[in-house]
Amino acid sequence: SDAGVLVSACLLGRKVRYDGGHSQAESAILARWKAEGRICVFCPEVSGGLPTPRPPAEIVGGTGADVLDGHARVVTEEGQDVTASFVRGAHNALRAALEAGAKVAVLKSKSPSCGSKTIYDGTFSGTRLAGQGVTAALLGRHGIRVFDEAEFAAADAYLRGQ
Ligand code: SF4
Repeated sequence: SDAGVLVSACLLGRKVRYDGGHSQAESAILARWKAEGRICVFCPEVSGGLPTPRPPAEIVGGTGADVLDGHARVVTEEGQDVTASFVRGAHNALRAALEAGAKVAVLKSKSPSCGSKTIYDGTFSGTRLAGQGVTAALLGRHGIRVFDEAEFAAADAYLRGQ
């Protein structure tokens, strides 16, 4: 059967963002994947046990890879440590991807979980740095190629090449 694709739930219109909204992506490729039954809908932060809406959180002291290695933490603006929920959500996402036979994920950009290129720098000032969120980093370590919502065509090309 067709290989699965893990997709951030907020990109599919689910109101799971920290602010209670969604980030619906408009993409003919996404629509085709849906019709083909490939999509595994997933929100790492909700899966990790966090409520919606929830306080915004950023990675402090590094990137998602550093969080996985125990060298950085995820905290809310009020200083609550939510690292454990983010790491749990990442492992749940990995399990869901493996169960779906997914070699590809399309995840929401800039998120401390889902970001695959840049993330916020932990100062809650809107400043970004190069690096991945916790879930994107874990998926990448397990050979799952992560794209963002500006890269549906690239993700589809990669999927066809598998
Ligand atoms: Fe979207 Fe990922 Fe944030 Fe969930 S954790 S709301 S899927 S960006």
